[in-house]
Amino acid sequence: MNLTGIVYRPPYEANSLLLQVTLGCSHNKCTFCTMYPDVPFRVCPMDQVEADIEEAACVCPDVTRVFLEHGDAFVLSADRLLQIADIIHRKLPRVETIAMYASIKNIRAKTDEELRQLRSAGINGLDIGVESGLDAALSYMNKGHTADEAREQLLRLTGAGMEYSFNAILGCGGADLWREDADATADLINAVQPHLLFIGTLHAEPGCRLYQDMRSGAFRECTIGQLLDEQERLLCRLDLKDTYYFGSHPSNVVPMQGRLPEQKQAMIEAVRETREQYRMYLDEYPVRGGEGSILNR
Ligand code: SF4
Repeated sequence: MNLTGIVYRPPYEANSLLLQVTLGCSHNKCTFCTMYPDVPFRVCPMDQVEADIEEAACVCPDVTRVFLEHGDAFVLSADRLLQIADIIHRKLPRVETIAMYASIKNIRAKTDEELRQLRSAGINGLDIGVESGLDAALSYMNKGHTADEAREQLLRLTGAGMEYSFNAILGCGGADLWREDADATADLINAVQPHLLFIGTLHAEPGCRLYQDMRSGAFRECTIGQLLDEQERLLCRLDLKDTYYFGSHPSNVVPMQGRLPEQKQAMIEAVRETREQYRMYLDEYPVRGGEGSILNR
């Protein structure tokens, strides 16, 4: 397959066919993001997409799931997505699900009828960087949506029968607003009841505004203790009926996953045990390696 540049995908799409339909991200201005800084956004020509699907039909004809690349492929019009889905189903008849990254803005640009049509065409499992439920954090992170807008658009997805991953980032409120961030994010998650909750922790690499702000002190990062407190506070406030919590990202102080509500108490206990175990390091800042992995724990 002809994939251009660095390709990102959610960890649970490891077995999916990655199909490039756009380059870069149409937003490309989140404060913490270094994914596509030098990639001007563009839509891939349909003949190239079709050629890639035909190649996939020869190489991996039994694939059941496709993940559309790059940063927010759901920005494509409903007509174009339906056209791509049609080619996929004709050439790769075993495909059941076509997933992709999506933003709140991408959802808002589609009508309810279009969302239903897309769902009927097998488009499901959107991966959505909501990040926080706190407007102050969303504004600083330059996400392009408010918490109310996220709630409204995510409920529209559910109304259309679509499942999605709600991606949240612990630490978005920094050392000054971690309590408010935990509470507002839990409230938003409770309001929309996502199928999947993907939890990571804020970290910054050279090349983004957050990195500069952390170095200058304009953004005060959470300590290891505050990150544990935020995670516990979020977990305690979550009131979910049937959501898988996927928090195994290396940036998390306590990587964990489990089904909610069944494993909620065990997960809270795991955070408390970690706090006890790391009591010497609670006031330290995480020292991070690749993908935000924490080295001083
Ligand atoms: S929407 Fe995603 S890919 Fe685009 S700038 Fe924000 S974090 Fe980066």
